[in-house]
Amino acid sequence: MNVSSATNPSGVLIRGGTVIDVDGERVADVRIDQYGKMAAVGNLAPLVNETVHDAVGCFVIPGGIDAHTHLHLPVGSVRVSDDFDTGTRAAAIGGTTTVIDYTTAYRGEDPMAALRTWKSWAEPSVIDYGLHMTFTEAVSERTVAECVEGGVTSIKLYMAYPELLQVDDDTIRKILRHSQKHGALVTLHAENGGAIEQLRRDALAAGRTGVFEHANTRPALLEAEATDRAARMAEDTGAPVYIVHLSSAPALASVRAAQERGVNILVETCPQYLHLDVSALQASGGENFVCTPPLRDPWHHEELWHGLSQGWIHTVATDHCPFWMHDRTAGIGGNERFKDFTDIPGGLPGIETRLALIYDGVRAGHITRADWVRLCAEAPAKIFGMWPDKGHLGVGAHGDVVVWDPTMVQSLDAEALHMRVDHSPYQGRQSVGWPKLVFSRGRLVARNGEFVGEPAAGKFIERCRPLLV
Ligand code: MN
Repeated sequence: MNVSSATNPSGVLIRGGTVIDVDGERVADVRIDQYGKMAAVGNLAPLVNETVHDAVGCFVIPGGIDAHTHLHLPVGSVRVSDDFDTGTRAAAIGGTTTVIDYTTAYRGEDPMAALRTWKSWAEPSVIDYGLHMTFTEAVSERTVAECVEGGVTSIKLYMAYPELLQVDDDTIRKILRHSQKHGALVTLHAENGGAIEQLRRDALAAGRTGVFEHANTRPALLEAEATDRAARMAEDTGAPVYIVHLSSAPALASVRAAQERGVNILVETCPQYLHLDVSALQASGGENFVCTPPLRDPWHHEELWHGLSQGWIHTVATDHCPFWMHDRTAGIGGNERFKDFTDIPGGLPGIETRLALIYDGVRAGHITRADWVRLCAEAPAKIFGMWPDKGHLGVGAHGDVVVWDPTMVQSLDAEALHMRVDHSPYQGRQSVGWPKLVFSRGRLVARNGEFVGEPAAGKFIERCRPLLV
């Protein structure tokens, strides 16, 4: 029997679960209508022909929003191993019903052409998707306005990677002003690229070429410096900034100082910075743990969890950027073996495991269930202009719903997951808690760790003006 319910002619009733969203935590039934929209939350009797799902003992939460992914992306002579089909299937199984992927307009490229390229790549998505725009050089105010008009209301700028991606402070400041005027949010990769380049050259010149040098040459203080500079530019221009993948306690201290001054600085971290540490780079296969910013010493974890619990860090995204192990070993240069640490493609798989790894923080007492929902769904919906369509379970919202079974045990080994990649950063670990049912606009897309949705059913989300949270 085909259990996928692509059309749901009479809607869906999810009964008896503990509903958690912006309106608090309560035992309630949840109704999604035949158009895929939230119709009611309360004590509800089934309607004729309505598909009824049992959620007793489960948490019923808004579908996760992963605001930082890289799918399909070519990197040097290799490419990330997940495309928009495989990546979004894995996302759905793990409880994420919307992704926002990073378009990049490389120097000399027409940003609108880059956007068309990413949109064509993203068509196979099985869940809804939005796109950010990355500029790698100065652009006109008109270009920023065109992005916003096209539903791309967030602009990424890099303060690192001078060869390919970095823009100078002058460009950041100009784009902050254009974005502020036209209703876009600037997201920043905050590391001091110039200083890091010098450290990398010094390491290579001294013959220090091993994997660990990746972390050694990107110290947390240079993340903190760039974070502070970003905050000061936000303060100076009055435009908000959003720091992607914050990884360290010193960078968080820069954020806190700015927030105390009243600066609008929004912050994202990723599960890898809460669960993994730099010792992974020293072990055999360390190249599979290369990501940027690098994994830090373990003591940073507690600081970041504290920042999440206090609302100083607003969102958790994945920076999902997986590579086959043979592509890691081969390196960006396409040789038989990477020539040194600068040649290793960087990024980790994670699109499937985000809700589980943050729920682990609930179980450990670092954050509350309400924090978990806010960080993984509500705040990214608000910050990235998808509120009130997404991020909560109120009437009229999209029927993006996860029924989370807190007793389901799921291995985090690569073979047990669905991302198209042959290693897992969390090999040997398991999650207690996993989605039992996942709905995207009322369509059942995942059940007990299996994808049951339809190919290419996701829609491009034209995002609105960001809301500050
Ligand atoms: Mn990224």
